[in-house]
Amino acid sequence: MPFNALLDGYRRFRRGPYQEQRARYDALAALGQKPRVMVIACCDSRVDPSIVFDAAPGQMFVLRHIAALVPPCEPDGKHHSASAAIEYAVTQLGIDHVVIFGHGRCGGIQASLSGQFAHAPECNGGFIHHWMEIIEPAREQVAAAAALSPDVDAQRALELAAIRVSIDNLRTFPFVRERGTRGPDDPRHLLRYRRRPAARARSGERQLFACQHLRGAGGCRLNRRTLLR
Ligand SMILES: [Zn+2]
Repeated sequence: MPFNALLDGYRRFRRGPYQEQRARYDALAALGQKPRVMVIACCDSRVDPSIVFDAAPGQMFVLRHIAALVPPCEPDGKHHSASAAIEYAVTQLGIDHVVIFGHGRCGGIQASLSGQFAHAPECNGGFIHHWMEIIEPAREQVAAAAALSPDVDAQRALELAAIRVSIDNLRTFPFVRERGTRGPDDPRHLLRYRRRPAARARSGERQLFACQHLRGAGGCRLNRRTLLR
């Protein structure tokens, strides 16, 4: 997508969706944002949370980075982008749910499994490798299982395991642990969402979700009944 296409898209947005939702944008500007859901998603250009969830401006607080991982809480004085975003969403915005939004055919998960950046220096793959070390124990488990059985789909297994690791890591943040409750259906409220068959056939993708409820999140509609379609 060349830069001029971005400018054209911006002009279309100003003429179309922005005008159509002018009242919403004005209210958000005047009153501030009050999203109820934080979504942590992958940077992958094929998986846009706003499109997949059909969300309007102001409805979701979104963090995107490689493989939608949540790092553990590490109060070491260094720069922690993900931790800052989670802290802001939970303690300042008071969101009710943190949704980990994994996806199929994730390049980050693939890199973790292949070990392609295992010995790469930083700025040449090393940052990616270090980031994906968040799920290193899970990768080792999946790789061992795959070595024992040809039936194990290692990519899919690690995509699911990464979501579990992220939910567990969320709970290493004291402000999440203090407010956190498990979901109603499953200990980790691990969910799968399948696109409609026609859409799935086009993209070959399936999305995966897990939700960490926070205190006061009554009437959560992020459950199997609403997402398993
Ligand atoms: Zn990905």
